[in-house]
Amino acid sequence: MNDCLFCKIIKGDIPSDKVYEDELCYAFKDIAPTAPTHILVIPKEHISKLDEVTPDNSAVIAHIYEVIAKLAKELDLKDGFRVVTNCGESAGQSVFHIHFHLLAGRPFAWPAG
Ligand code: AMP
Ligand code: ZN
Repeated sequence: MNDCLFCKIIKGDIPSDKVYEDELCYAFKDIAPTAPTHILVIPKEHISKLDEVTPDNSAVIAHIYEVIAKLAKELDLKDGFRVVTNCGESAGQSVFHIHFHLLAGRPFAWPAG
């Protein structure tokens, strides 16, 4: 996906503030944080959105949750954190490369707005 913003970030064509990287995923700070900790975790494989996850590509999603748990320990997020994936424009998705917002450092209301 040549015109995908997050694919360009993975390739290094667009700069990012990297938090973590391995062979399957990449994590970086959100450019417009909505919480003191706001990290985006993305698969290196381009998947546009959550409803495109299938048995063929879901292993990377499980891996991303393992990475989130590891980051939460490393960043000492023991007061709690929230993980958000918006799917589709009406849910607030603005970048169509699946991503997991890792948010922490302030209280979060529930139900979410
Ligand atoms: P969403 O609205 O769920 O699709 O989330 C997209 C997120 O990407 C937003 O929180 C943006 O602030 C973030 N974002 C957009 N461009 C960049 C960028 N170049 N570097 C880091 N985060 C970005
Ligand atoms: Zn992409």
